[in-house]
Amino acid sequence: MKNISRSTALFERAKQFIPGGVNSPVRAFKAVGGNPLFIKKAKGAYLYDEDGNEYVDLINSWGPMILGHAYPAVEEAVREALSCSPSFGAPTAREVEMAELICSMIPSVEKVRMVNSGTEATMSAIRVARGFTGRDKIIKMEGCYHGHGDSFLISAGSGALTFGYPDSPGVTKGTALDTLTVPFNDLNAVELLVEKNAGQIAALILEPVVGNMGCVPPAEGYLEGLRKICSKSGIVLIFDEVMTGFRLSQGGAQQLYNVKPDLTTLGKIIGGGLPVGAYGGKREIMDSVSPAGPIYQAGTLSGNPMAMAAGLAMLKHLKDNPGIYDALNGTANFIIQGLQKQISKYRLSCSINHVGSMFTLFFTDKKVIDFASAKTSDTVLFGKYFQAMLSRGVYLAPSQYEALFLSAAIDKTIADRIIQASNESLEEITK
Ligand SMILES: *Cc1c(COP(=O)(O)O)cnc(C)c1O
Repeated sequence: MKNISRSTALFERAKQFIPGGVNSPVRAFKAVGGNPLFIKKAKGAYLYDEDGNEYVDLINSWGPMILGHAYPAVEEAVREALSCSPSFGAPTAREVEMAELICSMIPSVEKVRMVNSGTEATMSAIRVARGFTGRDKIIKMEGCYHGHGDSFLISAGSGALTFGYPDSPGVTKGTALDTLTVPFNDLNAVELLVEKNAGQIAALILEPVVGNMGCVPPAEGYLEGLRKICSKSGIVLIFDEVMTGFRLSQGGAQQLYNVKPDLTTLGKIIGGGLPVGAYGGKREIMDSVSPAGPIYQAGTLSGNPMAMAAGLAMLKHLKDNPGIYDALNGTANFIIQGLQKQISKYRLSCSINHVGSMFTLFFTDKKVIDFASAKTSDTVLFGKYFQAMLSRGVYLAPSQYEALFLSAAIDKTIADRIIQASNESLEEITK
């Protein structure tokens, strides 16, 4: 057992003054038991908690730290921006550079607006879709998470799923009624819903590769099918690439699957670890956003110099080093093959879903293709696996319904360490 006394003491203090002791529910260890670790610092592939324990990090801040922690170019850029004052509330050159860079890396994005989080990005994107189409309803997929905006807390995956109240109190009935849901990977269901609500649907939003019910890839032809339905019915197709953007390829999932949405939402990697989001897409839609058009959306700290500096350093590095994605995929394949071998050895009911450097080990014998199949997972067994991995110095997301993220800082030696920890953990929990 590791000594985690400082973390435990901090958690006791935190609970007095912060709801549940954490500033985002997924950080609590409620789904896996025990108390959350308080992290003091991180470098490269490793996290260090307040008690000085070292962990291989497979969360990577839920995605952003794709280059590993405290990457020198990002750190340097932030330091430089800080020395010129952290915020002005006026336009800056970095924002122009950022917009140009995003549009060059994601061709479906012709104009882009910076915001401060993924939640803000998706909330703004559906407002724009509604304003642009003059329609009220949106379609979302069961188990997809799009941040904590009211319209999205309906069948909302990970956090909400882990804690078992998919429909949050505080979301009005009216708002809930405007969000229609269908299972992921079910084109027929979308077709029927669109037919039934002809002329009323403003937008269809989804994670093109789901990360928030665990990693679930789109079935062959699914994204193309959605594109066709939306084009035919004048529905704004929104790819929420807050997680997948700049992770699955330079141009996100849309480049990987070669399907162009009308709007794209971004976050996580785009901020290099600072709080940033963005939404963008077709010129004619984005030109309806204030002050170019009538749809209002604003932000005091939007395009913040430090956040732009971190994001620019990150994106430039990814753009200039396209080989990074092959390397990440290679590491992912190596780890997954290593894990797969053990699974067959222990005759466990589990399967691995995997796209690029995102993957999830589901403790179920079902093939996980949607929310219903994800929910067949044995979360008690996952909790044991999580604790066994943690005690061996590997930090997984504390929920079955999350994707794990690799960083470029994970080399072959560290990958071997992950595989060995998993091997021992599976042995321990199947005893
Ligand atoms: C994380 C996430 C969000 C929310 O972003 P925040 O910055 O946490 O508000 C939205 N959509 C997806 C797909 C995400 O993974």
